[in-house]
Amino acid sequence: NTRLAAADPEVAAAIDAELTRQRSTLEMIASENFAPAAVMEAQGSVLTNKYAEGYPGRRYYGGCEHIDVIEQLAIDRLKALFDAEHVNVQPHSGAQANAAAMSALLDPGDTILGLDLAHGGHLTHGMKLNFSGKLYKVAAYGVSETEHLIDMDEVERLAREHRPRLIVAGWSAYPRQLDFAQFRRIADAVGAYLMVDMAHFAGLVAAGLHPNPVPHADVVTTTTHKTLGGPRGGAILCRQELAKKINSAVFPGQQGGPLEHVIAAKAVAFKYAADEEFRDRQERTLEGAQILARRLLSSDVAKHGISLVSGGTDVHLVLVDLRDSALDGQQGEDRLHGIGITVNRNAVPFDPRPPMVSSGLRIGTPALAARGFGPAEFSEVADVIAEALVAAPEADLSALRDRVTALAEAFPLYPDVAPCASP
Ligand code: PLP
Repeated sequence: NTRLAAADPEVAAAIDAELTRQRSTLEMIASENFAPAAVMEAQGSVLTNKYAEGYPGRRYYGGCEHIDVIEQLAIDRLKALFDAEHVNVQPHSGAQANAAAMSALLDPGDTILGLDLAHGGHLTHGMKLNFSGKLYKVAAYGVSETEHLIDMDEVERLAREHRPRLIVAGWSAYPRQLDFAQFRRIADAVGAYLMVDMAHFAGLVAAGLHPNPVPHADVVTTTTHKTLGGPRGGAILCRQELAKKINSAVFPGQQGGPLEHVIAAKAVAFKYAADEEFRDRQERTLEGAQILARRLLSSDVAKHGISLVSGGTDVHLVLVDLRDSALDGQQGEDRLHGIGITVNRNAVPFDPRPPMVSSGLRIGTPALAARGFGPAEFSEVADVIAEALVAAPEADLSALRDRVTALAEAFPLYPDVAPCASP
């Protein structure tokens, strides 16, 4: 580690500062997690040096015999984890997985139907500045104004009206499970492909704690770094009949050389995801979100105009609804940041405030579960969040910061990872 400090003290110092930040604060951004040190070791390996365009056994470069072993391990493990017929582990990110999957199934100008970004969808599901909104015609479904749930009758009505070639089911900020069987039925009724983007909830699926979209969808895309807890990256799962199309859409369609160091790290993460400890961690993730939801729905919080989108959660995050509160999303994010809890502000459905301010907070439990938090710690952090959100603007929050520090110190992060500048 001192090698980096000697070669580039500025980068080393910033990495060390980030390690200290991660250790001393509580990470509650719902899309983040802590990759195990072994995953980071694989990612930081000599594999970064190797070109390997193509797929195992069929490469366009020599010297891929060890790379092939690694990529095949990642493929086999991912298939087993989700019971998929075919997978591609090369997408550099979730966005690239979606771009490749769409280009495999669609022609430019085709229509897609996805969840509105303002109601919890992702940029790649049809936002107008994203490739998805530029290449394809977009129709969007939303959530109901009263219950904040996706209304499947509305999805069906829009599907019949717009006749999309692809329906996208998946979300970045929606605290409930989707009805994959209903999506399948609607897709069949209008002759559309069904793509499920399970980026957020893939870890819950792997642990058997969330329905698996794979049997219902033509294509499933995911990231590997959210609930799944691996390196930053993407992957695609599909039926065997689409294997060729998907592979050629990734390479040579969207990408050149695969990031084999990241693929090795994915393989390691998929191994972790198959064991009992991972399941326990996902259970604590869900339990933590339930505890947080119950606390934020209690009357002392509600009387400040604070509630939860859809009235609760059945996944790894809650969406705090601040539309009736004097506190806006930006202020809420800043206030929690001030006491050492990292979350992101997020638009809520029917949000009257502009997106840069917003009326919501997205708060997730995966990273704290990875750190070892159980019900007692999640209750404490839920109390701290509730007290911070209802505090008067001028209140002294230093006691809350102390409680955050105590929690962080009780669950040391990466105890074996040495700072770059360590002697
Ligand atoms: N799909 C969903 C549902 C997401 O929430 C995200 C990331 O936030 C992505 C795709 C994109 O992943 P990446 O940031 O790796 O491109």
